[in-house]
Amino acid sequence: MAYRFIFLGAPGSGKGTWSAIVSRRLALSHLSTGDLLRQEVAENSELGQKAKSYMDAGELVPDELILALVDKKLGEANGFILDGYPRNIAQAKSLEEILEKNKISLSKVIYLEVAEDELVRRITSRVVCLNCGATYNLQTMPPTAAGVCDRCGSKLIQRQDDTEDVFRVRLDAYKRQTAPLLAYYEKKGLLHRYKNDGAQTEEGTEDFLKLLTKE
Ligand SMILES: [Zn+2]
Repeated sequence: MAYRFIFLGAPGSGKGTWSAIVSRRLALSHLSTGDLLRQEVAENSELGQKAKSYMDAGELVPDELILALVDKKLGEANGFILDGYPRNIAQAKSLEEILEKNKISLSKVIYLEVAEDELVRRITSRVVCLNCGATYNLQTMPPTAAGVCDRCGSKLIQRQDDTEDVFRVRLDAYKRQTAPLLAYYEKKGLLHRYKNDGAQTEEGTEDFLKLLTKE
């Protein structure tokens, strides 16, 4: 069955991790707009070139461009998980037009609920490798040797974005944009909430899959 999901959740709520697990288990395409953009840029496609001009200028990639990307990928995918899109009501409405055009509909919208203090704890324990892009979590997925990347041996750092003050600002912006999305999908009867305590156990995974695939 070609399931079509949207995963909503704050930064650090586990959207990426769950998307990876579920897309593998249910044979779905994992459509993360951030990853897709980077991929288009790497392939130097027409879309990628346009996106790069904004990124190089330090500007946000405009909505129309992201939409064109989603449109292209939805057309190619059989079933999918949208991770990081839509971010606001305007994008949700554009997405609806694309779905209608392709004569498909969403199976479920999953909201990954995590307590705010837990999000802050998760994000502030994140360290990254600036050389190869690997991400580690000092609590849940620490590097083998403290402060050193397992993959390439470079020094690990905490990104400026991942300090508590900066993260709280991001979280507030996220909440302003996303609260209306929850209401939007709730009204359509598509919204399901999942309390994501962060333990990616076998049992947790089966529970989550059950929520996704239940009629
Ligand atoms: Zn590295």
